[in-house]
Amino acid sequence: MSNIHNIELPKKVIIGSGALSRVRDIVEEITNCRGSAVGIVTGENTYRAGGALVESLISSCAEPKILLVKTPTLSEAESVAEKIRSEGIKLVLGVGGGKAIDVAKYAGYRANIPVISVPLAPSHDGIASPFASLKGTSKPYSIHVATPYAIIADIDLISKAPKKLILSGIGDLLGKFVSVKDWRLAHRLKGEYYGDYAAQLALLSAKHVLKYHEIIASGSSEGVRILVEALISSGVSMCIAGSSRPASGSEHLFSHALELIAPGRVLHGEAVALGTVIMLYIYGDPLWKKIKKVMSKIGLPVRAEELGLSSEEIIKALTIAHTIRPERYTILGEGGISREAAAKILKEIGVID
Ligand SMILES: [Zn+2]
Repeated sequence: MSNIHNIELPKKVIIGSGALSRVRDIVEEITNCRGSAVGIVTGENTYRAGGALVESLISSCAEPKILLVKTPTLSEAESVAEKIRSEGIKLVLGVGGGKAIDVAKYAGYRANIPVISVPLAPSHDGIASPFASLKGTSKPYSIHVATPYAIIADIDLISKAPKKLILSGIGDLLGKFVSVKDWRLAHRLKGEYYGDYAAQLALLSAKHVLKYHEIIASGSSEGVRILVEALISSGVSMCIAGSSRPASGSEHLFSHALELIAPGRVLHGEAVALGTVIMLYIYGDPLWKKIKKVMSKIGLPVRAEELGLSSEEIIKALTIAHTIRPERYTILGEGGISREAAAKILKEIGVID
């Protein structure tokens, strides 16, 4: 493995109540307000929740082109990239939750133009990361793309997101308690590059949400701001590491496995939070009990039935998690967990009966 990597950070992070009003300034900075075509990648609902507002705010400076996405598949992202090229779009904004931002990041990267991330939900740390998670690729995990040029996080808009998505954001960040351990393990056992600064930064985001879980889960704008800052910081840890290593370990492998077994039935951050409890338990780290308690308190599902899953589905996900990304060494090792051990672990934690 080469010991050289690029650190690409976002140039601007604009966060706060009413931050969206600054979107025109950023568009001007990149396009000089020459009426260039600017793409707005958004979904049908997210268009109403924020996309339309972005469209009207930039229309005096650029020519907005709405690029609607239905599902975040590789082929849809490729066709957005194609539209960017054929319509001479100079800049693309991803306005929405995971879907729109992932498609914008991928399409912008493929068409080699800057991307602005405008999150409307605080549900995952892809807001600021150089990774896009798309369906229909040969791999069920994220693809390395470019870091967004800017992130505009309007806390007024993001605070309107459903509570489930706020809790999912907490869950995605709790995962860093495991991913950082896995990274260190891979460094020690496999000689993989490890950067302690990036690791500590990712870990900080997990500690931060654990400390402030009550205020975040209350859905207040102060809490949502704490969560969004931590999500951005976790994204930046991936920029510094040059890989998703600090933010994605065995807890994410488990979540990807669950997504393969029960597609679209569990939110990313919910699955990651459950994976975190399981992997901490396997590590023998007593923190698993505290995390589980906090999850129950704030309403993050812990039990199979709360997730709408059968015991068998969760056992299966745990036994196949190590196969999702074989080159990513984690506590699951190369051979993974046997069915019997998985069932025993899940019973001991109280996920299944
Ligand atoms: Zn994640």
